[in-house]
Amino acid sequence: MRELYADIALNLPVDSLFTYRVPDHLADKVLPGKRVLAGFGKKVITGIIMGIKDFTPMENVKDLRAVIDDESMIPEELMTFCNWISEYYVAPIGEVMFSAIPRNINIKSESYYSLEEDYCEKLDKARFDDELNMEIITVIENNPYPGFTKRQLERKFNTKDLSKQLRQLTNEKIVRTDSYYSRPTQPKYATFVLKNFDEEKIDSIIEENKIKSSRMIEALKVFSKVNEFDLSGIKHDNRISKSSVDGLIRKGLLVTKKVRTLRDSDYSFPEAAKKIVLNEFQSSAFDRIFSASEKNEFKTLLIHGVTGSGKTEVYINVIRKILETGKTAIVLVPEISLTPQLVHRFKIVFDDQVGVIHSKLSDGEKLDTYDRIVSGKFRIVIGARSAIFAPLKKIGIIIVDEEHDTSYKQENSPRYNARDAAIYRAFLNNAVAVLGSATPSVESYYNSTTGKYELLSLPSRVNDSDLPEIKIVDLSEKQVISDDEEKKDFFDTIDRVRVKFLSKELIFEIGQRLVKKQGIIILQNRRGYHSYLECLNCGNVEMCRRCSIALTYHKFFEIMKCHYCGYSRRYTKVCTVCNSDKLIPKGAGTERVEEELKRIFPSAAIARMDSDTMTSGKIYRRVLNDFYEGKIDILAGTQMISKGLDFPNVTLVGVINADIGLLNPDFRATERTFQILTQVSGRSGRSVNKGEVIIQTNHGDFNVFADIRNHDYKKFYEKEILIREQLNYPPFSRLIVIETKSEDKALAEGKIKELFNVVSQLDALKLMQILPPHPPLFAKLKDKFRFHLLIKFSRANDASGNYMKRILKEVNEYVKREITKKVNVSVDVDAVNLM
Ligand code: ADP
Ligand code: ZN
Ligand code: ZN
Repeated sequence: MRELYADIALNLPVDSLFTYRVPDHLADKVLPGKRVLAGFGKKVITGIIMGIKDFTPMENVKDLRAVIDDESMIPEELMTFCNWISEYYVAPIGEVMFSAIPRNINIKSESYYSLEEDYCEKLDKARFDDELNMEIITVIENNPYPGFTKRQLERKFNTKDLSKQLRQLTNEKIVRTDSYYSRPTQPKYATFVLKNFDEEKIDSIIEENKIKSSRMIEALKVFSKVNEFDLSGIKHDNRISKSSVDGLIRKGLLVTKKVRTLRDSDYSFPEAAKKIVLNEFQSSAFDRIFSASEKNEFKTLLIHGVTGSGKTEVYINVIRKILETGKTAIVLVPEISLTPQLVHRFKIVFDDQVGVIHSKLSDGEKLDTYDRIVSGKFRIVIGARSAIFAPLKKIGIIIVDEEHDTSYKQENSPRYNARDAAIYRAFLNNAVAVLGSATPSVESYYNSTTGKYELLSLPSRVNDSDLPEIKIVDLSEKQVISDDEEKKDFFDTIDRVRVKFLSKELIFEIGQRLVKKQGIIILQNRRGYHSYLECLNCGNVEMCRRCSIALTYHKFFEIMKCHYCGYSRRYTKVCTVCNSDKLIPKGAGTERVEEELKRIFPSAAIARMDSDTMTSGKIYRRVLNDFYEGKIDILAGTQMISKGLDFPNVTLVGVINADIGLLNPDFRATERTFQILTQVSGRSGRSVNKGEVIIQTNHGDFNVFADIRNHDYKKFYEKEILIREQLNYPPFSRLIVIETKSEDKALAEGKIKELFNVVSQLDALKLMQILPPHPPLFAKLKDKFRFHLLIKFSRANDASGNYMKRILKEVNEYVKREITKKVNVSVDVDAVNLM
């Protein structure tokens, strides 16, 4: 008989496949893309079949344990896609493959401890130094089959660790372990009961079956009138009881049926459906995209559409046409702008053909969504970054909305960028990729100037509404009191001592909107109460013990907290360096801005939206609904409020401190500032009433503010692209960050220097620019010291990226071979986060 072997991807941080023998009874079940159970060390874990072969040079190959799926979970095209991600981003193939499947639908094995048959004999001979051993045996004797898991035993003994005892008992062959499989998330079923009798003959049935109980007779009458009855509703129906139903089932008068129920999040939103006719710019964008799609050729288009230009409407119309041709669609949006409003708009048009994937779904909802994508019921998938792995077939279009958003880049392995990967997946499907933004990334816009992408413009807002008027208030200058009498009087009444963060200008404008009952959005892109705590005596800024990040004061809980690792401690005024009690909170976070707003406008309804307050999808939805319906006057928050919201009643946007992030040591700092301020400004004046924006800064003379005020993306871009070219940054190069990380600082530093030398030697053609290693801004995170090596691969000399891939592969080999496990090394291709 011919031998069969399968190459399996396991969800482990190693970049190779594992070969297993296929036992005869599984031979006709194995197929690439199916999941299997495979022994790995002492565990049994889920893997994915990547390939099948009839020869391996390896010896002692283990057998596969089981094949889980009846059909392949990963279509061939998706497998090619995953392989590409793994190769381009130098990421372990197993980690990539498992990004394509929701985690908790995998099967896990658990070890159960039970007693060996002859355990009594062994017990006589055994010598234990631990009384616990005997007690464990007694406990297991009470439940010999299937025994207990380690965790269950530990819970019974109220202890943290029984590893030592269980090891001893297994070594002495008193206790044995067996693995059983469990699936953490199961499909959900509802039980229905159906009548199994002729309702016409109900009286004779009662007689024949000798039914005396009046409850049972009543129930019978109820069931005679319905086709099927959902048993979960029985609690709310006082005509029927559980016992009478059971009685009728026993008599064979009712039968039960199990039906799978599908779990869905609630996406309702109080916006009415609108009848929309595309305007001339929208129509022309629509035509270009659809005609590209009709040709069944891969193509990328970039929609540069100002805020409120109606991009969503273009997406919806194109998708409708493309679905008619039998194809499917993926729509990627940043996690934050996955608002109920956006989903609602798609649901109105496409109803139950839309599946939504995001991080707040429960495991059950994830499973049920996934199953409906695989079965073809969902033909449009909307989701954040990971939705690019959706197992749709015949993809016709992939849309990446807000394509400039940095959340498309995953910051842990696999470190892919979903926007760029979307283009590759479209290529594999001969589909069109559409990137959309009011503030395109410099990289994408550049590609539209070289002809790599086709540029589509939506230069004006729909409905003849204008872009808002933007005022830059420079806080470093003395505020000019305007000649407007009303304003002047108002300004005089404001006591500067009581107001810390809001300029008189902004306060005045907020007051005006409150009177007119118009909506107000206030951005402060930093959460907490104060930004940091500084000692007036010695100048020390209180830092996290584990990270090089300043602690933030949260007034509500009276704590100082690290926003990176979550470390927190009680707030005291005592400085940890000089012990004086002069530790003073400085700067403002959302919590303090909210407090100041409440003090100045005590009767306004104010809501705060940041990751401290938006702890669930439900709260988020409620706040947005209330703001939409005017029950909230002022919405203040972090960048959560800056994107995607289309609220017609908002006419004022205020930015408390536009400088946050502007001075970061990151070549994209100016670009980010332009993007976030333009996006948040775009929430203002989207309907009949004209919008206004007030941006407060201490650097009013910076160029970027003039471009923001003038809504001049082009000008911003032209300056920016020159700098990128001069400094050889993307789009002119591919930027790679190699990071070493260790609790041992000297070791991390030594290894990054070593890697610097290795990379320099590998670059035989001298096509790379390798900067000297340096500690990043956050030099320590979670107790680990970090060092970065920045490499720029010129695109002009390595258009395909093959040279880069080859070198990084060798770097990886070197790391595996030569670098101790005490140092974590990661390679970040097309790095976005440099800090
Ligand atoms: P963007 O995503 O470009 O910021 P949206 O797609 O949210 O803009 O559209 C802004 C608003 O304009 C929405 O309320 C939308 O329903 C409406 N809208 C879009 N296109 C039209 C149109 N052609 N005529 C009238 N209203 C439109
Ligand atoms: Zn001090
Ligand atoms: Zn920390």
